[in-house]
Amino acid sequence: MEEAFMKRTANCGELRAKDEGKEVILNGWVHRDRNHGALHFINLRDRYGMTQVVVDDDADAELVKRASELKLEYCIAVKGKVRKRPESMVNKEMPTGEIEVKAEKIEILSPSDTLPFMIEDETNAKEDLRLKYRFLDLRSKGMQDRIRLRHEFIKAIRQFFYKTDFYEIETPTLIRSTPEGARDFLVPSRIYPGKFFALPQSPQLYKQLLMVSGFDKYFQIARCYRDEDPRGDRQLEFTQLDLEMSFVTREDILDLMEKLFREVFKKVVNVELPEHFKRLSYHDAMNTYGSDKPDLRFSLEIKDGLPLVDITSFQILKDIKEKNGAVKFLVAPKKEGFDYTRKYLAELEESAKIYGASALYFMKAEDGKLQGGISKFFEGKNDEVLSITGAKTGDVILVIAHENWKKACNSMGAVRSKLGADLNLIKKGFEFCWIIDFPLFEYNEDEGHWEAAHHMFSMPQSEYIETLEEDPGRVKGDLYDLVLNGYEVASGSIRIHDVELQKRIFRICNIPDDMAEERFGFLLNAFRFSPPPHGGIAPGIDRICMIIADQSSIKEVIAYPKNTAAMSPMDESPAEVEQKQLDELSIMIKPKKDEA
Ligand code: ASP
Repeated sequence: MEEAFMKRTANCGELRAKDEGKEVILNGWVHRDRNHGALHFINLRDRYGMTQVVVDDDADAELVKRASELKLEYCIAVKGKVRKRPESMVNKEMPTGEIEVKAEKIEILSPSDTLPFMIEDETNAKEDLRLKYRFLDLRSKGMQDRIRLRHEFIKAIRQFFYKTDFYEIETPTLIRSTPEGARDFLVPSRIYPGKFFALPQSPQLYKQLLMVSGFDKYFQIARCYRDEDPRGDRQLEFTQLDLEMSFVTREDILDLMEKLFREVFKKVVNVELPEHFKRLSYHDAMNTYGSDKPDLRFSLEIKDGLPLVDITSFQILKDIKEKNGAVKFLVAPKKEGFDYTRKYLAELEESAKIYGASALYFMKAEDGKLQGGISKFFEGKNDEVLSITGAKTGDVILVIAHENWKKACNSMGAVRSKLGADLNLIKKGFEFCWIIDFPLFEYNEDEGHWEAAHHMFSMPQSEYIETLEEDPGRVKGDLYDLVLNGYEVASGSIRIHDVELQKRIFRICNIPDDMAEERFGFLLNAFRFSPPPHGGIAPGIDRICMIIADQSSIKEVIAYPKNTAAMSPMDESPAEVEQKQLDELSIMIKPKKDEA
């Protein structure tokens, strides 16, 4: 049978000098077309690479005509012969740079409208335009490389698990609404008017139920949905490696994750990770780095400032100490060519204020003395300050005081992050660390009750179990987060598997027994039938791929992300639906306020 079009016999990335003389057909897109009269140099591109196609000046009239019709991004087929380029024309940057294909025939498979932006390695088109034409944006080398990286990453994860005795099990995406912290996406049921499914925020309860069923070791590359307000670099849907294991302790899960990431990073980016990742308690991470997701690619440490309070006449610091608050200091190091100007210190202060600090105090160390800022409150005590802080000439001592320990830490953490970036302290590479011993509960000031810091199914550490209710704020959980380069990339916990304990946790989180039975009855019911001790974790695939790809937004590693306003400029979703569809679902749309 004759082919409908000139079908490729080679791809655009594979031809080399050894292929000289071969007759080939290439299919691809016109990436560049430089012509000098009848002579054309066409860079033909496909997923595999780029090959130079030449329409020589001896080409017949038909070929010249066809070549003259070509425009950028036309999809074409080229038949021709591979020839070596003259030595002086070899392009070492291109894997196919030793050869070119002398065209004998060109077929236009499909033309293209004028492009909204050029297909470059990395486009500088505005985000909404990129997302509207995502199918074109994805043709760029940057996006092609990142989507390939994501594929390699997921493949390496699966390969790791397929060597173990984990089962890959799918859990439903139409489930009962059991909010886990964020807002659920709801899906109306047509068959049961007025009833709704929810899309899972994670497979949490279903993976726990798999443990009750005895499946022992489960994993899944799971899509999760959270109907959150657009903020930061969040997506309404994202992908997790979700896993759960029975008869394990925290150490088994941490150990498995270290093995997984060592293997995957070696395969995907050829990086040797340490056998064990650093560990910090939540408390130490907050005190030393001002964050529960510290970036350990630079060392700059925050220190306890209370010893300074004992030798100062600065009343604000004294008052904070009096109220059992926290005083933190950090020594911003001298750096050649970098001036700690008033303007820069004001910028640092702004970054601290975002996290609640009312001020960032400073004093400069100069030839064994303190200068400027709050130095006047340390008269006669300069030596002591310099010895407590270790500050040397050119360094700046920064101080934050706050009644609330967490706010003091986080504010100084923001200062630390800004200094790390501005002073160029951040080393290249991947710094993983575990954060453990998190508080189990957080107080929700707005709603006036305790809530789970992670989720309500996490186990309190054993020494707190008896007295949970007395002071929930003190209780530490069997929780762990994995942090990479300053991002939380996984979190997990050992789970509760006891009905009574689970109900006590619900009660502390303001969910009385009847409401717990109504919402989580299926879990509580399962826990009445000999659940095994179990635990798990869920690393975020998008975030880790983003870090490996050295990007600052997860959109860069997702084929079709939503924009920052939580909609898709490409298919214009979310969109209105037909009245008939609403009728079938027995749904009436409330008129907007101004129409009512
Ligand atoms: N389901 C949790 C989450 O999505 C992770 C876990 O505890 O396994 O954050």
